[in-house]
Amino acid sequence: MLKKNMAVYPGSYDPLTNGHIDIIERGLKIFDKIVVAVLKNPAKTYLFNLKERCGILNDVFKSNDKIEIVHFEGLLVDFVKERGITTIVRGLRAISDFEIEFQMALMNRKIEPRIETIFFVPSESYSFLSSKLVKEIYLLGGEVPSMLPAIVDRKLKERFRRP
Ligand code: ADP
Repeated sequence: MLKKNMAVYPGSYDPLTNGHIDIIERGLKIFDKIVVAVLKNPAKTYLFNLKERCGILNDVFKSNDKIEIVHFEGLLVDFVKERGITTIVRGLRAISDFEIEFQMALMNRKIEPRIETIFFVPSESYSFLSSKLVKEIYLLGGEVPSMLPAIVDRKLKERFRRP
């Protein structure tokens, strides 16, 4: 049976930021349940391993039964189909996201025409926020706690050995 009231929100979440949370909250205005799918791509190098990335998400959303945290390897459309879900959620920050997201959405549709991709636009205060930039800031000794869940701020400081 196809679950039309559910969507999969895939990503690296390396680490989770308030931008991701913003997208999840917007998604829940439309869907009853969001499955946050944490990607393990053997070709990618992550700062936080899969267990750590999922652990952060589980900690942040532990009391919310509308959010399920899972991990997956392989083709996204296969994972989405296996779950009987037909919608993929992604976030669109700026024009720079558009080209790659457009390409991915069309390719996923080519592979599985029954799956639709829906884009949510975050609050403008998160429109310039990315996991990559956050990691660079903490690596260089800076911090942006207002853009992150407290656990992520703490883990980034631990990772780069700061009090
Ligand atoms: P990926 O490696 O798949 O891009 P990310 O964890 O970086 O994984 O992002 C997952 C999804 O969340 C993507 O659709 C990305 O555009 C979106 N996203 C990430 N950061 C933000 C943000 N600050 N605001 C809105 N969407 C975001």
